[in-house]
Amino acid sequence: MQKDTYKHQGLRRQLVDEIIEMGIKDQQVLNAILTIPRHFFMDSAFLEHAYQNKAFAIGEGQTISQPYTVAYQSELLNIQEFESNKTLKILEIGTGSGYQTAILAEICKNIKSQITSIEFHENLHQKAKQTLKNLIKYSKYFDFQSIDLVCTDGSKGYLQNSPYDKIIVTAATPNSPQALKEWFSQLKIGGQIVAPVGNRKIQIMCRYTKKDEKTIEQESFGGFRFVPLLGEKGF
Ligand code: SAH
Repeated sequence: MQKDTYKHQGLRRQLVDEIIEMGIKDQQVLNAILTIPRHFFMDSAFLEHAYQNKAFAIGEGQTISQPYTVAYQSELLNIQEFESNKTLKILEIGTGSGYQTAILAEICKNIKSQITSIEFHENLHQKAKQTLKNLIKYSKYFDFQSIDLVCTDGSKGYLQNSPYDKIIVTAATPNSPQALKEWFSQLKIGGQIVAPVGNRKIQIMCRYTKKDEKTIEQESFGGFRFVPLLGEKGF
């Protein structure tokens, strides 16, 4: 069993300060980064790197996203605006290590939520499941019951748990209407998608808001680099 020591907590405080300097303001997001032990999501060889603001390999050629990127996407999801008497339904495409999933669950700790996270690779899916279960042994964290981890091709979304209030994509999404179509159809009216959209090398962080069945509003933010989306609608 891994430990979360004062040293780890101190390193997280420094990381949060760094992320604040980079422009993240959402208090719930910052609290989640401060609370969730990122080193639980990485192989022990990388322990000393866990609180650097960097992406790292997690196997299968995939990476755990940079903490700033996790915070940036989480902030764009606007979860704090959600009415607390409803159940917030979130779909994450690309579980990877499960770190972003844990951050989302921690942000949603005080509201009713259902988080579905999809991973393409079976072994990453299994590993993330184990990591999140281990984390729950510490009672101060979120409730694992609200998380549904699924191993399938998320490029087509996940119809079973739809419609969603929020969809977050943590893999580079091809810039074609084809790739986004299915996700849009699984979104509620007023719902939002946050996805890095572009080519294999560079992507622009986009937020799409579904105004009505036919109207999607698009906002564009900064440039990012993610591993490519796999599967039917991927690269
Ligand atoms: N959110 C992750 C970062 C993941 S990197 C974290 O916090 O660790 C992107 C992940 O998306 C990889 O694990 C990759 O295997 C997964 N992925 C890529 N294409 C996918 C698809 N079509 N469906 C589901 N997962 C996919």
